[in-house]
Amino acid sequence: MPAAATDDATTPLSIRQDGPRSLAIEWADGHRSVYDVRTLRLACGCAHCVNEWTGEGMLDPASVPEDVRPVSIRRVGRYAIQIEWSDGHATGIYPFSRLRRLAGGA
Ligand SMILES: [Zn+2]
Repeated sequence: MPAAATDDATTPLSIRQDGPRSLAIEWADGHRSVYDVRTLRLACGCAHCVNEWTGEGMLDPASVPEDVRPVSIRRVGRYAIQIEWSDGHATGIYPFSRLRRLAGGA
């Protein structure tokens, strides 16, 4: 991984649910990102949701409930979080660098 993994822009100070539908991350550089939780679910980059070889998305958005939400969120090392979802999906790991890119604030 590049040195960016330790940059302030990809270092979360806090991660918390901001409401039933949104997850908020405060970054060390002062930026605040708010994500729609279902958008995050659809952005899952695990091997079940994205073809590892072609990068093609394999997740059918219609298969994800409208009211999907995180059941638990835990840190994975210093660079990512793993989200367990109410639809039973728990293999998705979200690197902070990717979350920051998804927020469009990098
Ligand atoms: Zn997935």
